[in-house]
Amino acid sequence: MHTVFQVELKDGTVLHCILCKEDGNKKELSIAGSDRIQTIIESSKQRFDDLHEDLETRLLADKHLEALCYRDCASMYTSKSRIKRLLDKMRASKICSKTSASVRINNLRLQATLPFMR
Ligand SMILES: [Zn+2]
Repeated sequence: MHTVFQVELKDGTVLHCILCKEDGNKKELSIAGSDRIQTIIESSKQRFDDLHEDLETRLLADKHLEALCYRDCASMYTSKSRIKRLLDKMRASKICSKTSASVRINNLRLQATLPFMR
């Protein structure tokens, strides 16, 4: 089965970047395959955010999982130098806790979805 991980808003399903949660109106979203998702999961763990919890569950359920994100977001998110800078900043301000680094946005509901229409 072929599913794409996306974010659903209350007023209907909109395709969003899984990283910045912006919709795909501004520029074209690219599809991350399972290898890329795995990299995003690893980066999420290093960043102490909770994105990997959802992604990992979904990837276990569907090893052909695909997710939508902007190419720029994915490369920034998984950049080793950016992660290092983020961790240095966290250490400096002593807010290295899961909660404070959380990227979860309350009004967005993360959901496994519908077959993706190409
Ligand atoms: Zn994004």
